[in-house]
Amino acid sequence: MLTNDQLAKWDRESFLHPSTHLAQHARGEAPGRIIKSAEGCFVTDRDGNRLLDAFAGLYCVNIGYGRKEVAEAIAEQAHELAYYHAYVGHGTEASITLAHMVMERAPAHMSKVYFGLGGSDANETNIKLVWYMNNILGRPGKKKIISRWRAYHGSGLMSGSLTGLSLFHQKFDLPFDTVRHTTSPYWFRRDDLGLTEEQFSAKCAADLEELIEAEGADTIAAFIAEPMLGTGGIVPPPRGYWEAIEPILQKSDILLIADEVVTGFGRLGTMFGSTHYGITPDIMTIAKGLTSAYAPLSGTIVSDKVWKVLEQGTDEFGPLGHGWTYSAHPIGAAAGVANLKLLDTMNLVANAGDVGPYLTRTMAEALADHPNMGEVRGEGMLTAVELVEDREARVFFDPARKVVPQIVAAMGRRGVIARAMPQGDIIGYAPPLCLSREEADTVVSATADAIREVLG
Ligand code: PLP
Repeated sequence: MLTNDQLAKWDRESFLHPSTHLAQHARGEAPGRIIKSAEGCFVTDRDGNRLLDAFAGLYCVNIGYGRKEVAEAIAEQAHELAYYHAYVGHGTEASITLAHMVMERAPAHMSKVYFGLGGSDANETNIKLVWYMNNILGRPGKKKIISRWRAYHGSGLMSGSLTGLSLFHQKFDLPFDTVRHTTSPYWFRRDDLGLTEEQFSAKCAADLEELIEAEGADTIAAFIAEPMLGTGGIVPPPRGYWEAIEPILQKSDILLIADEVVTGFGRLGTMFGSTHYGITPDIMTIAKGLTSAYAPLSGTIVSDKVWKVLEQGTDEFGPLGHGWTYSAHPIGAAAGVANLKLLDTMNLVANAGDVGPYLTRTMAEALADHPNMGEVRGEGMLTAVELVEDREARVFFDPARKVVPQIVAAMGRRGVIARAMPQGDIIGYAPPLCLSREEADTVVSATADAIREVLG
């Protein structure tokens, strides 16, 4: 067996990691963990440390690690048929079954699902379909996409443009000029501290209306949004937000793309974020929880309204010129089928709706008296702790102090993995949906102790 030192050396010499400080990593100044195995909510690294993974990888291992049913489904699929493509109407039992299972769970007005590989490529597909649709409908000028600051929709060219976090734009010549960003529905970070949640939702809606007016509704094709902000800070929408936004889109004939990559398949304690917040998207992006990351797979779910135009388009112009070699890959599809069955049989959506709020509530109680606790917020199995330098005046820490990265490192030493969210001093939690109350208690005490270690 390779020694850890050998692996670490090869890693520094050969591996260009995603979302990593490349220079520090290559110099050995910021080694990541090398993970060896995992079971339930726990991962074990090559040094033998067992850690409670309170971020489920990258909020994707919804059913928890080590589920034999999924591993066996993958193995059987690999033995019987490791690959066949889905072009020109081809399919496999796994891909057709998964399409059926996804549509059984999707809101009633949705029609079909296209399968890709990850959330970023699914969002690329979405925008291409929206552009295709408006060309078929004879409105080639209606192409701009409105996204929101602090959104995360991936890091491809278009998906990275849709993302509203500066790290994903700077030095990449993004965003594209077909993309506009509007106000982030982030009440805690509102400029005017006097606004209530409802007033702030009204402001978000007014800002959106103003943007549409300035650009011209006839130039805007779609609005894309996570039902609840994820990577931008794990922020539930302020009260009244979606109720104020949807009518504005409908009035201007702007499609709604709900990016459910994080919220899909149970994370909010409901099957989808759209149903959770009562919104009616035209397109939904799915990934992560679709297979619980046992194999890469994503999807674009289109509504009846979108589907009808796609049908019309191919009748007029021939086959859809869009697809990947690995679209609907049978191994991903087999993983997806086994995963969705487990999500049901283990009753994980309900568990997310029970243990998630328990985690948020007990976290809020444990940190209530800490002078640097700005806000504890959450929905279902998504929780965030936002820390501030001055609670009364809501003064944020200087990012150079790296307060939350230090806290997350201190939590790691206590056996719990949380995520330092990329923009702001925010600790993020998105555990597997099978988290128990006892495991939630462990997460809370590791957080409280680590905050005390770093901030006093
Ligand atoms: N959309 C959302 C809401 C996400 O959170 C992510 C990833 O975290 C993506 C899209 C991109 O997915 P992927 O990393 O699989 O490309």
